[in-house]
Amino acid sequence: MAGMGPVGFIGIGNMGAPMVRCLAKGGFHVVIHDARTEATEAFREAAPQIRIASSLARVGEECQIVITMLPDSKVVRSVVLGQNGGKSLADALKPGSIIIDMSSSFALDTRALGEELSSRGIGLIDAPVSGGVPKAISGTLAIMAGGDAGLLDRVQPILETMGTVHRTGPLGSGHAMKALNNYVSAAGLIATCEALIIGQRFGLDPHVMTKILNTSTGRNNTTENKVERYMLNGRFDSGFALALMEKDVGMAQTLADNLGIGAEELNLVHAILGKALKALGSTADHTAVYEYVAKLAK
Ligand code: NAD
Repeated sequence: MAGMGPVGFIGIGNMGAPMVRCLAKGGFHVVIHDARTEATEAFREAAPQIRIASSLARVGEECQIVITMLPDSKVVRSVVLGQNGGKSLADALKPGSIIIDMSSSFALDTRALGEELSSRGIGLIDAPVSGGVPKAISGTLAIMAGGDAGLLDRVQPILETMGTVHRTGPLGSGHAMKALNNYVSAAGLIATCEALIIGQRFGLDPHVMTKILNTSTGRNNTTENKVERYMLNGRFDSGFALALMEKDVGMAQTLADNLGIGAEELNLVHAILGKALKALGSTADHTAVYEYVAKLAK
């Protein structure tokens, strides 16, 4: 894009890969990096404006704006500030640079990271997303952006290539919003799975149930976008790991705890996801909660 340097992008996973394609389609040059070389390899011949950087330091040296799309706050912190003495992203970035953390990180960790970066003259924006892999591909993600309004103005054209930007307030507010959204989404997932299993035991057809739910007050993101596409056909391949959903709901719970709020359903949803994760394993997709609920009913 005219007048803007290359954008760095770290974390080329299920979400990062299609988001990088949207950035390139939007006219930006992108410098990508991932700890797994196979994740970036697919981009070698993909588009001339996407370049692979062999290290975090190279991304920081070449870019003034860098996006992180990593599993969680812990990984974001280790990439940004470094661990084991290696050169970190922040070591390589020039003062005046901006990091946009689009991962689903923990709001309070984000605030702490923002303070550490600000003492080095580096800005931080939190801009987590909702919509999953399908909306990452179509560039129609909901982006919850928190942080300084001046910094947000600078990065808005970048974010707009990937979806619709909703400004949420100060740094960390996007991450808080995202964790709370995923709690509501997870509650809908579990309720839908239970209703489908109970209904089938009674003799209802799950496809008919889904149609009725989708035209009734039980409608939610799981009934609309997941039951037929990933669950009833046994595919369980939405591209959003159960481990990540469990992490998100855990962050919502920790946030509530920090605010002194006892939220009964939130605690329950987090406990159910924890049990499902233990039963299904760390590589399970979140839609496989349907299988977990079905097994419990046997
Ligand atoms: P993913 O596991 O597919 O991708 C994460 C990528 O980060 C991987 O390619 C991994 O190799 C890389 N990585 C890990 N540690 C690294 C390090 N130290 N240095 C460089 N690269 C490293 O995860 P995802 O599904 O793409 O999710 C990414 C983030 O987006 C998570 O915070 C998740 O909660 C959130 N999210 C995911 C979805 C979804 O549907 N998958 C939707 C919304 C938000």
